[in-house]
Amino acid sequence: RIVYVNGQYLPEAEATISIFDRGFLMADGVYEVTSVLDGKLVDFAGHQVRLARSLGELDIAAPCSDGELLAIHRELVARNDLTDGMIYLQVTRGNPGDRDFAFPDPATTKPTLVLFTQSKPGMADSPASKTGIKVISIEDIRWGRRDIKTVQLLYPSMGKMMAKKAGADDAWMVEEGHVTEGTSNNAYIVKNGRIITRQLSHEILHGITRAAVLRFAAEAQMEVEERPFTIAEAMAADEAFFTSASAFVMPVVEIDGAVLGNGKPGPVARRLREIYLDESRKTAV
Ligand code: PLP
Repeated sequence: RIVYVNGQYLPEAEATISIFDRGFLMADGVYEVTSVLDGKLVDFAGHQVRLARSLGELDIAAPCSDGELLAIHRELVARNDLTDGMIYLQVTRGNPGDRDFAFPDPATTKPTLVLFTQSKPGMADSPASKTGIKVISIEDIRWGRRDIKTVQLLYPSMGKMMAKKAGADDAWMVEEGHVTEGTSNNAYIVKNGRIITRQLSHEILHGITRAAVLRFAAEAQMEVEERPFTIAEAMAADEAFFTSASAFVMPVVEIDGAVLGNGKPGPVARRLREIYLDESRKTAV
C-alpha cells in the first residue's frame, strides 16, 4: 500500500512520524474518513468543510489547501488502484519539540498530515446491510465536544468491544437518558413512518452522511423529527438505523436484545440506503 505522509507518497512500511508528534502523545489531532465508490470520492466537499471546522475549533493550522487535499486523495486512489473502500485522513498539531501541555502558536508549528487507503470490495452490498445489525446501549462518558472529530477514540473503541462481548455489533451511547450516537455513527429510529434523530449540538458529531440522508429524506417527503430519543423508545420503534461515511445507511434490527419489527431491515432504512448510494455515486468526484 502507498500512503501519504507530509508531502511524500511512500510504501506504508517506510512512512514515519516523530514520537514527539502531539497526535501520538496527546490525541491532539482530527481526522476524516471519506468513502470511495467506483474509484470516486463520496461527498468530498462535506468532509473538507468539517475538517476545516474541526481544525479551527482546535486552533490547528490547515496543512494545505482544499485543492491540494483533493489532489492527494485522488493520487492515493490511483496509486492503490482503489475501487471501493475509504480514505483516512489525519491532521495533528505536529511536533513542537518537547512534550508540553501548552502548545505553541499554530503559525509556528507545522501540522502533520497523514492519509492512507483501505480497500473494502463490495462495501455497497455488505452482508450486514442485508441482515441488519444488533446494538447494545452503553453510558456515554466521552468529553463534551463530540462535534470536533478528534482522534480520541479510546472510549468508542471500548464500546465496540463491549458490544462484541455481548454478542452485538455496535453500541449506542446514552447520556442523561437519551441516545447521543453510535460509537462511530449517528443513530435514528423510525416510528409510524417518522424518522427521529438527535438534533445537532456539541453532544454529537455532525455526520456528513447524516446531513445528506436528512436532505434526501426531505426530498422524498419523508417526515423527520430532530430530537433526542430514549432506549425504551428505540426498543419500541418500528425500525432503526445508523449512518456513517463508511457504512452508509445501516439497518439496526435489535437493541439491547429487543427485536425491532420482524427482525429484518425496515423499509425506511432500505429506501434511504438505496437513495444515498444512488445519489452518492452520481455526485462522487
Ligand atoms: N458519530 C461519530 C461518533 C462518528 O465517529 C462518526 C463517523 O466516524 C459519525 C457519527 C458519522 O459521521 P459521518 O457520516 O461523517 O461519517
